[in-house]
Amino acid sequence: MYGKIKDYLRTELESIENAGLYKRERIITSPQQAVIKVSTGQEVLNFCANNYLGLSNNPRVIRAAKDAMDSHGFGMSSVRFICGTQDLHKELEKQISDYFGTEDTILYAAAFDANGGVFEPILTSEDAIISDTLNHASIIDGVRLCKAHRFRYESADMEDLEDQLKVSQTHRFRIIVTDGVFSMDGNVAPLDKICELAEKYDAMVMVDECHSAGVVGDTGKGVSELYNQRGKVDIITGTLGKAFGGAIGGFTTGKKEIIEMLRQRSRPYLFSNSIPPAVAAAGIEVFKILAESNDLHDKLVENTKYFKQKMLDEGFDIKPSQSAILAVMLYDAKLSQEFAAKLLEEGIYVIGFYYPVVPKEKARIRVQISAGHEKEHLDKAVEAFTKVGKELGVLK
Ligand SMILES: *Cc1c(COP(=O)(O)O)cnc(C)c1O
Repeated sequence: MYGKIKDYLRTELESIENAGLYKRERIITSPQQAVIKVSTGQEVLNFCANNYLGLSNNPRVIRAAKDAMDSHGFGMSSVRFICGTQDLHKELEKQISDYFGTEDTILYAAAFDANGGVFEPILTSEDAIISDTLNHASIIDGVRLCKAHRFRYESADMEDLEDQLKVSQTHRFRIIVTDGVFSMDGNVAPLDKICELAEKYDAMVMVDECHSAGVVGDTGKGVSELYNQRGKVDIITGTLGKAFGGAIGGFTTGKKEIIEMLRQRSRPYLFSNSIPPAVAAAGIEVFKILAESNDLHDKLVENTKYFKQKMLDEGFDIKPSQSAILAVMLYDAKLSQEFAAKLLEEGIYVIGFYYPVVPKEKARIRVQISAGHEKEHLDKAVEAFTKVGKELGVLK
């Protein structure tokens, strides 16, 4: 019975491969950190993890996870509302609300689920979602799962957003949805203007802070902090899988009636397992560390500034960025792959992105800076970039 679809899948896989879009996994044999070991035995400097605060292998976070296994066991074997809620889950939800200055928080297995389950419980076919064209795949899926009307605006384009707000005016409730930081360029959404337009046209605002939380703003609390809009954003979604320890887990935080309704009707919350106690306890420890001092965030900002300036001084073309994501522009797809391969030979692990992940003729190498990087790591990376840049004729 499997024969026909097997042939079809083989052909499809081949066409993915022929288009140069086949995704392969690189196998790491060490913990996730600045210096990682890969299965070939090579040690490389890692510049492509979302480990912004360097907490993925933090001893305090690991200790908290181990202790929680002893005190609270391994797994919950239940969804939250049946018998899957421990004191740890409630404590973590409270910590997240305190961190973002929001009214309440609901945990999910991942931010993908948070975004997938946020729209359908609160909006119907009478309502409208106005979404940035570059929003994350999980937002796009969440919108698809909801009967509300969809409007899209060009990424971070406030004139287009205003147009969409005008044409959607007959709908009962409207929500503007945006990523906080766009993952390919590292630019932030203009949240001040978005909130202004939301007020003018009577719409709600939702921000996905996955790449911005822990990174952007004076103390890293995201774009709502950067633009002084704390309390004005109705819904924030985020992940524990990037800056906040990097393991797994997501959340939606915001207005309390919205969170309360999600606990009643959000399908990934109702029909999927609770996060493990160790993950919840590690998350609590992460927010404790961040409440004690701003050192990790300061170091991330310092590192990013340092690396960016050195690269600009060498003559590289870097997209304007307000985050820890830096797009080193190469424009040509083949060049981006060759460049990344040569950097790996130099012990620098980065990824080259090209169409369709980024627009045509806009191929680049994406560098992600971490508080786990030391100056010598950054220097070594700039040195390798410069060497390869000269070899490949990108730099004079
Ligand atoms: C990474 C990411 C997600 C998904 O987060 P997970 O917790 O890994 O599911 C969602 N939205 C954005 C903007 C992201 O960058």
